Amino acid sequence: MANINMKAMAYAFMLAFAIPTLILSPRTSAELKRFQQEVKGDGSLSFLAVGDWGRRGYFNQSLVASQMGKTGKRLGVDFVISTGDNFYDNGLTGVDDKLFEESFTNVYTAKSLQKTWYSVLGNHDYRGDVLAQLSPVLRQVDSRWFCMRSFILDTEIAEFFFVDTTPFVNEYWVNDGGHSYDWRQVAPRENYVSSLLKDLDMALKQSTATWKFVIGHHAIRSVSEHGDTPELIEHLLPILEANGVDFYINGHDHCLEHISSNDSPIQYLVSGGGSKAWRGVYKPNKDKVQFFYDGQGFMSMELTKIDAKVTFYDAFGNNLHEFSMTKDMHPTL
Ligand SMILES: [Zn+2]
Repeated sequence: MANINMKAMAYAFMLAFAIPTLILSPRTSAELKRFQQEVKGDGSLSFLAVGDWGRRGYFNQSLVASQMGKTGKRLGVDFVISTGDNFYDNGLTGVDDKLFEESFTNVYTAKSLQKTWYSVLGNHDYRGDVLAQLSPVLRQVDSRWFCMRSFILDTEIAEFFFVDTTPFVNEYWVNDGGHSYDWRQVAPRENYVSSLLKDLDMALKQSTATWKFVIGHHAIRSVSEHGDTPELIEHLLPILEANGVDFYINGHDHCLEHISSNDSPIQYLVSGGGSKAWRGVYKPNKDKVQFFYDGQGFMSMELTKIDAKVTFYDAFGNNLHEFSMTKDMHPTL
């Protein structure tokens, strides 16, 4: 009996420290939960971003994972961001779906990647049991897993606003293409989207962070297969522009992109090359395409109070594109 109690206590202790702390601050918005992430001792921060990955290691997912491990070690990354479409083809079937371990735990094995993975949901995740993918039970299987619909990650030098973009997209609601989507706790769509936008706008307005990131699954600007997302341009982009957001990071298109806006300082970063790629589609849009790679890979961000350095890598770890931004300056290539 004593042994069981000790185990239970040890487990409770582990959970308490494995999960980022919910900060109850007066600045917390009504709906968006806020979490805190430590920065390095010198005040800097680094992370990787990858999307569209969960395919049991196939389609070069393992190759990308291996290179993420090497880059993660070199930079000493503090966390990883997943831009969604975490588990193909149809999300998870439940909390006991082995796909979770086969596509996540058993693939991203490098020591440097044993950090929290802050994740949003993609449209493929919505085809499965969304509540399972959001369930804290998965953290008992792999304590790195941190997936919520929309939330705020607060660090000393940056704030990250994670946004659940799938419910914005009309085609998933009116023409599902033979797929069913798990809209539990989302429908009706109008209420969900308008409430989310209101909460995001309020949280961004209250933010005093030097750097502001917004992360979603769907692109605002992209030049590959899926391209721009009109619903996000109409509803989300004005809020980002009005509140001085520096970077929008997404997946969905299975490629790597850096696009500069003609209308604002926002830099659009697409990191959706976690596994299956090479769609062979290039459709320029009205913004300036700084970089486009139609293949597998990932990106890193190295952040200080005044500098942000972005690097994109292919599945072999080659540096494909990098740029830096300094506060109050335009990007320098
Ligand atoms: Zn997608």
